[in-house]
Amino acid sequence: MSNNRKNKIFIQTKILLDKKKTSCVDIVESFLKNINENNHLNAFIEVFASEAREKAVEIDKKIKFSKAGKLAGMIVGIKDNILYKNHKSSAASKMLENFISPYNSTVVKRLIDEDAIIIGRLNCDEFAMGSSNETSYFGKVLNPVNNKKVPGGSSGGAAAAVKAGLCHIALATDTGGSVRQPASFCGVIGLKPTYGRVSRYGCIAYASSCDQIGIIANNISDIAIALEIIAGRDDFDSTVSSLSVPEYSKFERLSSKEKKIKISYIKNCLNNKNLNSEIKNKFLKTIKSLKEKGFEIKEREFPLLKYLVPVYQIITSAEASSNLSRYNGVNYGFRSNDINDVDSLFTKSRTQGFGKEVKRKIMLGTFVLSLEYYEKYYEKAQKLRRMILDEIDKILSDSDYILLPTTPTPAFNIGEIKKPVEMYMQDIFTVLANLTGKPAISIPLYLNSCNMPFGMQIIADSFRENNLFEFSNFLLNDILNDK
Ligand code: GLN
Repeated sequence: MSNNRKNKIFIQTKILLDKKKTSCVDIVESFLKNINENNHLNAFIEVFASEAREKAVEIDKKIKFSKAGKLAGMIVGIKDNILYKNHKSSAASKMLENFISPYNSTVVKRLIDEDAIIIGRLNCDEFAMGSSNETSYFGKVLNPVNNKKVPGGSSGGAAAAVKAGLCHIALATDTGGSVRQPASFCGVIGLKPTYGRVSRYGCIAYASSCDQIGIIANNISDIAIALEIIAGRDDFDSTVSSLSVPEYSKFERLSSKEKKIKISYIKNCLNNKNLNSEIKNKFLKTIKSLKEKGFEIKEREFPLLKYLVPVYQIITSAEASSNLSRYNGVNYGFRSNDINDVDSLFTKSRTQGFGKEVKRKIMLGTFVLSLEYYEKYYEKAQKLRRMILDEIDKILSDSDYILLPTTPTPAFNIGEIKKPVEMYMQDIFTVLANLTGKPAISIPLYLNSCNMPFGMQIIADSFRENNLFEFSNFLLNDILNDK
């Protein structure tokens, strides 16, 4: 067990590697063993075992000649919507079941250029739509903390794999909370960077104005070093900022005497009727500890809270209906056999290739974009999105961080939530960062009375990932450890 625990954190593995106490070959073998022993979780759709072994031999040789990259020894899982050249990438959909990527996503290329090893592709909700990983064409994922519970979604495989020690870090997309919500449910750390911090070239699009690639890990330093490698300008993605990339891995260690930091929390979030009372109490307890340590705490109102999920749903379904129109059975992807003309080719390929939730989103998106309803829904949602951003900018203009619960409840039982709208409400606290583009991180807060973890979410102003690392590291070590 202690060996397993050490395994979970890259910076610890790296120390052993630097001291020649382990090798990449050993590291890969121990992860493959963990993966085998945890097959029941269904976290991976595919494991690249023999390839990982070959890479490990190559990297061990590079280490011997001091030629290895910064991430030598790091074992990475990638969500099944992030492309890896000559490997399948299906977005957990029948539609792309046999799609093989002809090129690398920028994030994968940057990681392998630094000698990280990609160990496999991780299960997720179909086309990253969902909050429980129950919509995957490849079956549900179990929460490693309690196998009766969902791991969260859409990156359920990613969070489960990191928690169970099946990879050091996972790369996953976060459009409305898909990195942070499963991180909260599984008791690991999940970062959604600022919109435009990380290239999305080679990432299967869901809702382009919200999609961002994030990182899940067991430790802040692992996230920081991975972000340092994947972030920054990319000629293949014009939405990426050309701001220089700080040395995230050298983030400062805050001292508890730091008194200048201002923190806001949103009172009406805590009074939200969907918020579980144990989460609320532990959240307030953390706020109290921060106050006692001398931080300046401000209580704010955010009256637009009730619009977050509706605005998010309208905008993302509109964008999804457009992004997913390319899967028509003609160019690539699933094609129905049972066709007699071009209309039935489109209709049947889409009917048979997509699952229920994806179809629901496409239909909703087509509806809100239709001539008759555009003004009433889509345009209104865009205006509200602007107002939400203005409000959040106002709060961040006089505070460094906004603290929120990550999720309204801890992980629920598999099969428990049946109504789509109830599932959508799971995202109430996470979509804020996507609608505004702000960076946000979820860190494990406490365990509830049934021993299920839940997270605290920290939002900062755009491109302040460094501050998120400083503050969450402090919270984890100085506040949450000192109960
Ligand atoms: N649950 C949200 C949705 O289905 C978020 C998904 C995500 O972030 N990819 O839209």
